[in-house]
Order: sequence, then structure tokens, then C-alpha cells
Amino acid sequence: MQKGNISVQTENIFPIIKKFLYSDHEIFLRELISNAVDATTKLKTLAGRGEVKGDIGDTTIEVIIEEENKKLIIRDKGIGMTEEEIKKYLNQVAFSSAQEFLEKYKDESSIIGNFGLGFYSSFMVADKVEVVTKSWQKKAKGVTWTCEGDPEYTLAENDKKERGTDVILYINEENKEFLQEHRIEQLLGKYCKFLPVSIKFGTKTEQITEGEGEEAKEKEIEVDNIINNTSPAWIKQPADLKDEDYQAFYQELYPFSSTPLFWIHLNIDYPFHLTGILYFPKLANNFELQKNKIQLYSNQVYVTDNVKDIVPEFLTLLHGVIDSPDIPLNVSRSYLQADTNVRKITGYITKKVADKLSELYKKDEEGFRAKWNDIGVFVKYGLISDEKFYERALPFTLVKNVDSEFFTIEAYKEKVKANQTDKHGRVVLLYTNSPDSHDSFIQAAKAEGYDILVMDNVIDNHFMQQLEYKMQGITFVRVDSDTVDNLVQKDEKKESVLSEEQQKAVTEVFEKAVAEGGGTVVLKALSPESQPVTITRPEFLRRMKEMQALQGNQFGDFPDSFNVVVNSNHPLVAGKLLEEEDEAAQAEMAEYLYKLALLDQGMLKGSNLTAFIKKSQDLLNLKK
Ligand code: ADP
Repeated sequence: MQKGNISVQTENIFPIIKKFLYSDHEIFLRELISNAVDATTKLKTLAGRGEVKGDIGDTTIEVIIEEENKKLIIRDKGIGMTEEEIKKYLNQVAFSSAQEFLEKYKDESSIIGNFGLGFYSSFMVADKVEVVTKSWQKKAKGVTWTCEGDPEYTLAENDKKERGTDVILYINEENKEFLQEHRIEQLLGKYCKFLPVSIKFGTKTEQITEGEGEEAKEKEIEVDNIINNTSPAWIKQPADLKDEDYQAFYQELYPFSSTPLFWIHLNIDYPFHLTGILYFPKLANNFELQKNKIQLYSNQVYVTDNVKDIVPEFLTLLHGVIDSPDIPLNVSRSYLQADTNVRKITGYITKKVADKLSELYKKDEEGFRAKWNDIGVFVKYGLISDEKFYERALPFTLVKNVDSEFFTIEAYKEKVKANQTDKHGRVVLLYTNSPDSHDSFIQAAKAEGYDILVMDNVIDNHFMQQLEYKMQGITFVRVDSDTVDNLVQKDEKKESVLSEEQQKAVTEVFEKAVAEGGGTVVLKALSPESQPVTITRPEFLRRMKEMQALQGNQFGDFPDSFNVVVNSNHPLVAGKLLEEEDEAAQAEMAEYLYKLALLDQGMLKGSNLTAFIKKSQDLLNLKK
């Protein structure tokens, strides 16, 4: 047996390894299994070149727990190592790269994938590590390398018969969770699900049918529990995959999810390598829940599901897998954001996504519209947050009107231009965020020949602002922001049938009636067919309030400001109310009309509403 020092000249890094990345101790398993996969792949390459003679046999990697001995074993049938190789690779190469890695990232808390710590990450969880190995080379003798978490190691011959390597971890007390089956199973599911070499973890029972016809019998048999799919959909050629295959792979990634709308298969060789499949989930309105679902892999090794520095924010709404060996992994997040390769990848993915959407739109407008509810959120999010995407996506960005007709923005602008251009030359795009509660306004606007859009998504306020900012000469106006005569400001004024004096009197009566419920009385000469009293919310003030609500009301509460528009040309106002001589009856009538307007807007509530209903019933009684 030989003894030696792994490294003589430098500090002892073992204590640092133990403390390093405390919360991420679990990655040791990925590191060791990746090594086993590499050793197996190398063997297959050698065999392919004819350098390894004969059949290489089964190359399944095994993960074994021996709880009573506190051992966790990772066993491969790869190339193995000779004594010289152990000295070179484990004592020198692996040690100095671990050292370098620690030196660089000692104080960093968020390193993307933590690749780089490699073999020595085993000392995060083990007090002692044994490597029992035998090289593929003829006449190579088996060797065992042992290290107890200090710079000293021993090397001894062994009588291992089969080619390959066992890495045996003696799991320490603080990390005994890694001796539990379910914990290891969970980690294998997380990091190793799509590794290219089969990985066995124990056995499982399977139902099979033996015999045929009447003699058929159900039987249970023990089979290897293979935890990974060695050829996941994303590494295949799109031409070899059917829709069902893509859908099945989606279920593999996210069991029990609803079917995705469609997908994009990414495949690029130059100027960087990247493969992957991005899925469009059903988004509707709950898009916050959908984030952080894209998984990043490097050569089928899981890296992270936090890809927000690798793909643009709005693309994190998508699901699926990106696999690229060219994304630098053992770096901190801040470095990653500045990396030009990563920026190119971002640009590429954005372009691919826009191209795919454009293709879908051109191929099947009908189908595209049917999916718009889900796609729309995503596209709008993209338009708002990404300049390039805005340009690419505008031609297929749709808006829907209250009659459920879809238009592209340009087409819609053309459609309404003639009737809805204001005195400043801007095209006024009327919209509602709630068709049900704006019904009376919508009816009034339609009677005027106007068209009204539905903008009821959480993202629509931002979306409209973005369009106003980017497109010249349009303005969005909510249908309840003014009375119909002034929704599209055209500078046409109707004459009031009332004298100045009468107008003053009416205003006074209403101001008294409104005093308690709030609102500013505005007397207007509208068409006699328009409502006698209408509640409106001026566009500008309402937007201010919405913005403030978004910023968490930093500047104190902005009161709900609305106008109470009294139609001085309405027969109930110009006729009945003015003719009424009893002041109390006049006040009562004004109040009643005001409350009806509040009711129309869902603003009459609680005891006010109860009292109003009671009053209406009393009125019916009086009628007889
Ligand atoms: P890396 O895998 O990044 O090269 P590691 O520290 O994980 O770094 O491993 C260092 C080297 O040790 C590997 O490059 C390989 O040559 C050798 N090695 C580690 N594990 C095995 C194994 N299971 N079989 C054969 N060689 C191995």
C-alpha cells in the first residue's frame, strides 16, 4: 500500500468543501453520476473505434444504498482508471480544478450550475471516499484509492474483476438523508432523468401476462428500476417525432399537466450549440404561476430551472427544455448576463418563437384566434418587454371587440378610423375591461356607430400604453370615461334646451343629491334619448389611480374620482324635474336618478342599496 499527499504546497481545502454551498450539498450526486456517464461514453467511443476488443456488455450505471454500512455507491462499467490515471486525474486534475473553483466562488451564493467542483464535491457529504476501479486496458490491475477528507490518501491494489469504477461514499452523520431511498430517488429524478446512459436504482415489480388466451395469467416479476430516459425527445430530429411524441414528452416533464397548445423544437449548431423544445402552455390569466418551468440542461445533465438570465423574462412563461453545452455554467449569474454567447442565445430563441407564432398565424388564422386567449398574454408580455419581439410580433397581435371579432391592430385602426378620429387627428380606440358592467356605455357607443374592444386581461393596461407609445396617432379611451357625445372628441356641441337660469337650478338640485355619495356634477346637453344621469370616469384620472395602485399607493390613497353627468335635454330633467314645484319632491327625484346611475355602475352598495330597493317598492305601491 502507498500513502501520499494529494497536494503538498497549498492549503487544505477539505474544510472549505464541507461548508461550501451548504444548501446545495445534493449536487455531489449529479457530479459523481456525470463522471460515471463520461467514463461509460468514453468506453463506448473506444469500442466504436475498435480499441476496446469484444463485447462491452451491459453498461448500466448503478446507484446503491447500504444503509447499515452508511455507504452510498455509484458503480459504472466505464473505462476505469489505472494507478497512474488515479494519480493524474484524481490527485492532480480533479483536485486543482476543485481548488480553483472554490477560490473563485468562495463568496458567491448563486453560481448557475455549480459545475466545476466535480469529484471532490463528494466530501461535502462523506467523511471517507473509496474509489475502487479497474481500467479497460489489458493487463491493468484493479486499484483502490482512499481518502478520509484530508490531503492524505492511500492507494492499494485490489482484485476487482470487472472493468469500471465504484465510488463509495461513507456518508457522515449530518448528511444521513442521502442514505434514504426516497431522497436519492428524488435527486435522481431531478438531475439524472435524461442522462444518456441507463441508471439503475434498485428493482421494482412489474405486472406481466404469461401464456395466451384462456391460459393467460397475470404475474409479478422483479425488474431493474431504471430511473432515466436515455433519449429524450429534444435530442431527436423533429422529422422523427409526431405530435403524440411531443405531448408525451411534455407529460414526462410535467406529469398531470393540461396539454400544451403547441411547441417549438430548437436545433442549432452555429454559432453555438443549442437544442431543446419550448412548449406553449395554456396561460389564460394566471401567468405568474406558470413561470420557472423551463429546465436548463448541459449535454442532458440537469443544471437549473431558474433560467431567467438565459432567456428573456417574457419567455419564462414557456415550458420545456433548453440544452446547451455552450452556456457557461460554473459562473455567477452576473457574469452570465454579460456573456455575449448567452445574449446571442436569447436573441435566437426570441426570433424562433416569433417566427413560429407568425407561421402559425399565416397557416391557420382561425386556429390562431381560437388560441389567442392563451397566446395573447404571452405575446403582449413580449411586446411590452422586448423591442425586437415587438417588431416581429405586431403583425400577428390580435385585438377582440365586444362582438368577438378579431383584428390585427393595423386592420382595426383602419376599420374604425373614419368614424373614430378625434379633433386632434388621433384614432380613438374605445375599449371596455368589463363588458358586463359597462353594458349601458357599450350600447350607447354602439348606437353612435362606434366599435368597442375588450381589454380584460391583467396585462392589457400595459399593453395599451405600449401601443400608444409605439404607434403614432392612436389613443385608447375606456368606454365609461365620458358620455357618448364626447368619447371621441369631435368638437360638436349640442344646444341645451334650458335657459342659463334653469341650468343653474338643475345643477344645484343635483349637487345636493350627490353631496353624500360623492362625484362631481357636470351638466351636459345630450340627446334626449341618452341616459338622464350617467357616471363617468375621466380616462386620465382613472389611469393615474391605476398606476398608483400598481405602485402600492405610495402617495396616499387617490380617491375614486368620477363625474355625475346630468343630461339637461332629457325629458325627466328638462321636463318633470323642473316642473315640480315642491322642493322636497324635486330633491327626491334628483337623488333617485343619481342612485339609478350608481346602480348601473355597481356602485350602490350595502345599506344604500337596501334603502333604494325599499324606496322603489314603495313607489310601486304609490302607483295605484
Ligand atoms: P471533471 O469530470 O470535470 O473532469 P472531476 O473532478 O469530476 O472533473 O473528475 C476528474 C477526472 O477524474 C475525470 O476527468 C476523469 O478522468 C476521472 N474520473 C472521475 N470519475 C471517474 C470514473 N467514474 N471513471 C473514470 N474516470 C473518472
